[in-house]
Amino acid sequence: MKSGWRLSLLAIVAAAVSVPAWTQGTDYSQIQIITTKIAPNLYILSGSAGVDPVHQDAAGGRIGVLAGPDGFFMIDAQYAQLSDKVLAAVKQISSEPIRFLANTHIHGDHTAGDPFFAKMGVTIFAREELRDEMLHPPPLANGNPAPARDPAGLPVVTFGLGNPVKLHMNGEVIDLIGVRAAHTGGDTMVRFEKANVIFIGDFYRDFGYPYIDRANGGSLAGMLEGCDFLEKLAGPDTTLVPGHGAIIRRNKIAPYRTMIIGVRDRVQQMIEQGKTEQEVVAAKLTAPYDARVPGGNLTAGAGLTSAERFVSEVYQELKGGAK
Ligand SMILES: [Zn+2]
Repeated sequence: MKSGWRLSLLAIVAAAVSVPAWTQGTDYSQIQIITTKIAPNLYILSGSAGVDPVHQDAAGGRIGVLAGPDGFFMIDAQYAQLSDKVLAAVKQISSEPIRFLANTHIHGDHTAGDPFFAKMGVTIFAREELRDEMLHPPPLANGNPAPARDPAGLPVVTFGLGNPVKLHMNGEVIDLIGVRAAHTGGDTMVRFEKANVIFIGDFYRDFGYPYIDRANGGSLAGMLEGCDFLEKLAGPDTTLVPGHGAIIRRNKIAPYRTMIIGVRDRVQQMIEQGKTEQEVVAAKLTAPYDARVPGGNLTAGAGLTSAERFVSEVYQELKGGAK
């Protein structure tokens, strides 16, 4: 049964879904692409701050670029509206062709640029689940079918969990490592063995609270498992690059996991006390962590702050049983 709160939330969402959440209120012409070198031939391309309402720290999702004589390997492709600027930033590094692109997960701030690059001849790698999510997107919150994706952007090479897919180029060994249903159902971490860098994707973030996209197959249990996996995979000096927020070391993972478990346990207690989703969200269970989570109480789209969205997702997962 839907509570009145749930219905009013759905009404807000329905009013906002005529365009995807990540395109609302963003003046793309104001976004610059900033290039940062993090290893001799490895770069990060970030959108500028203060333009994208749902990613105030840096517009869109972070891109990774490995350069060298074998051509570029890219991680993620930003908003479609930024493709020309992303390409210009890559060309500033060198004139080699872009050969491969791997997606960390399906969200539009990471994949909407895929068709642009695929049409240039770039081969896209992603999880089988991500390709499936692109082909069969969940309905919009108002129940209407989601708009179809440009098929040009569909991943060409797909893989599952298990042994990483390895690419050997530009003196690097690149591992594409599947993570079980965490931020979405098709998450991938990308590890550069020689540079000792891991691009995590979005299941870890320290700007805003965790985002468990249950409609696209994400899960709380998978997010915790992903944290454990990352802690084992990374060394103390490994550079960890999330899709959003600060670049970190391994020692940040344990407190993040502790925060998730702390919120989860409080939500579970309130469920056992018979509280509704509205009551649980209104209880501000993230308050003990808010000082350490910049952006936690900023909008995450659809009329919710990221703290409210996180608590609502945790409630729904615990209430509905683990995925
Ligand atoms: Zn995401």
